[in-house]
Amino acid sequence: MRYYGTVIRPPSEADSYILQVTYGCSHNRCTFCGTYRDKPFQVRPAEEVQQDLTLARQIVPDTRRVFLADGNALVLSARRLVTILDSLAAAFPNLQRVAAYANARDLLQKSREELALLRDKGLRLLYLGLESGHDEVLRRIHKGATAADMIEAVRRAQAEDIRVSVIGLLGIGGQELSLAHAEATGRVVSVMDPRYLSLLTLMLVPGTPLYEQWRQGTFQPLEPEALLSELRHMLLHLERLSGCVFRTNHASNYLPLAGTLPKDKPRLLATLDAALSRGRAVLRPEAWRAL
Ligand code: SF4
Repeated sequence: MRYYGTVIRPPSEADSYILQVTYGCSHNRCTFCGTYRDKPFQVRPAEEVQQDLTLARQIVPDTRRVFLADGNALVLSARRLVTILDSLAAAFPNLQRVAAYANARDLLQKSREELALLRDKGLRLLYLGLESGHDEVLRRIHKGATAADMIEAVRRAQAEDIRVSVIGLLGIGGQELSLAHAEATGRVVSVMDPRYLSLLTLMLVPGTPLYEQWRQGTFQPLEPEALLSELRHMLLHLERLSGCVFRTNHASNYLPLAGTLPKDKPRLLATLDAALSRGRAVLRPEAWRAL
């Protein structure tokens, strides 16, 4: 199993076999993201993918979960993805689910029939970086999609029974748009009604445009207490969800929370209020935060 460059995956894919089918991210323009800045997007040659699979079949034959890397494997054509999914099914008899990152454009470019086929072939979960439900924030960070695009993308996947894990980014609106970002993100996720919602917290990465904006004073990040208030505001605007698994367990967050919405909303708000009243002593130390 060979990996090229930085390879990331969601925390919930920690036990999955990671198969690189693309390198980098086809968008690679989000101002806060430094993950693939030094790794130009490429589709990995099909022969190499098959060679890795042959090796994995010998080393980890009991694989039940596979994560397709890198940044947005769903950019591949449905035909190419079907070939990969068929190979995975042949290699791993116990395979239960295949997951990948996807952006809104990848999903909107797939037809309903293609999404249904991918689901039947084993693609069960997509991780979509919403970051914010606020269009001005999305525009400023060069996300390349509007909130309406994201809603439609999630709707299309879920209509074909592909679960979606939506990822939001606390602090990405800066001080100026913090509460508007929180409210809009809560409302957009409420419309999406995804199976999973994970929140990360912004970390300014040297070499990214957002880092430069901060250095030049045109972006003002939030202090930890303000980030908790933003999270509280977002939670208040998460409504009408029908059993959404909610997590802030990523290493970038100051306060790990876990629950199911709407059932656990009162408990999560109470935990947040307690943390807000007790101050930084109960938060993850800055030095322990990571992407
Ligand atoms: S945040 Fe996601 S879509 Fe944006 S550049 Fe990074 S990997 Fe690509």
